[in-house]
Amino acid sequence: MSGIIVKPRAGILRGHDWVYSNEILKTFGNPSPGDVISVRDGRNRLLGSAIYNPRSIIVARRFSRQRQILDADFFRRRIALAESERNHWGVRSDLRRIVHSDADGLPGVILDRYGSVIVLQTLTAAMDARLDMLTEAVREVLAPDALIERNEAPVRKAEGLAPRTGVLFGTPAQELAFDIAGVTHRLNPKTFFEGHKTGLYLDQLENYEKIAFHAPGRRVLDCFSYRGGFGLACLNAGAVFARCVESSENAADIITETARSNGLTVEVECANVFDILKRETRAGATYDLIVLDPPSFTKTREERRDALRGFKELHIRAFQLLTPGGLLASFSCSHHVSEGLLLDTAREALLDVKRSARVVQRLFQGRDHPILALVPETAYLSGLLFEMMPGR
Ligand code: SAH
Repeated sequence: MSGIIVKPRAGILRGHDWVYSNEILKTFGNPSPGDVISVRDGRNRLLGSAIYNPRSIIVARRFSRQRQILDADFFRRRIALAESERNHWGVRSDLRRIVHSDADGLPGVILDRYGSVIVLQTLTAAMDARLDMLTEAVREVLAPDALIERNEAPVRKAEGLAPRTGVLFGTPAQELAFDIAGVTHRLNPKTFFEGHKTGLYLDQLENYEKIAFHAPGRRVLDCFSYRGGFGLACLNAGAVFARCVESSENAADIITETARSNGLTVEVECANVFDILKRETRAGATYDLIVLDPPSFTKTREERRDALRGFKELHIRAFQLLTPGGLLASFSCSHHVSEGLLLDTAREALLDVKRSARVVQRLFQGRDHPILALVPETAYLSGLLFEMMPGR
């Protein structure tokens, strides 16, 4: 088997599963992109089997600590295991992520279930090259009515892969409906091809209820709403008012329609959140619960400074708009803006507006998006719930 020998300081020697291009001492056996290779330390001891792509800065991603090939049986076993683990974890079974890449031992493979439809992403060269095998494994183990490929994520470019979407087998139902925190959300097949991510932000599903729990009697401002997951859940839970702010016209229309079909009344603004927050603070408006769930302003560490400036502005405005005892649920969906950095940003913003707040709850990506303890990159969504101190 071909492979690589890693340098003494390589992260994989401290338990990480990835090998970066600058951590390689030597390549042997002339592997090709997409091959399975063995990873060895300087004393030629096996660290595990990995997928290889010299075009990416992550040249190797380990998927087993043993010698292991990628055959049909391997894919069937890993997918079946991921599915049964989620059952043990008590994650809802009709709407969930079934395979979460490295954290399920399938680096670059994402499988999301939307009822009878499954959406697949193959974000690494090795997994993309084995699309047929994966498709068969999904058919045998999970037996969906339809399997859709949504391979447009920008990270594919870093692997030298072209964007691609399509139906791998079956026909998706004309309409699928899901109860999300008491609200019925309807999805048509277009959602899987045109919606964000694979259709919904499944990583936030569990947080809708956690935030809606606090909603009764409150006036809510849901910023970066997408389809209104937070705002509509809050209304359904008894919020007296909710304003959803979303820049995508299509998503904004869906919020309005979803509210209507659920008998809820919502204010939808198809606009830039920054403009709306400015307008609301100028007008002296107040809210009792604000959600900030911005897109990841930064994909890289280098862009972080600029991103944090915008992030701080959001927090300044939100803290200004909140009533005493008001709540702010603030999220970061980038590993590069960790919970610590989120808290630092909030502290700076509080200092600027001369107010005090408590951290009352920590929030994470849903349990179906597991976190590998030794691979910090797998923890990418963090959130904090702040409560404004009354009377200070
Ligand atoms: N809270 C949503 C997910 C938010 S993702 C949910 O739980 O489903 C971020 C959303 O913000 C996207 O829908 C994107 O279209 C929108 N967006 C990005 N930049 C924006 C801006 N400046 N103003 C308003 N919306 C924006």
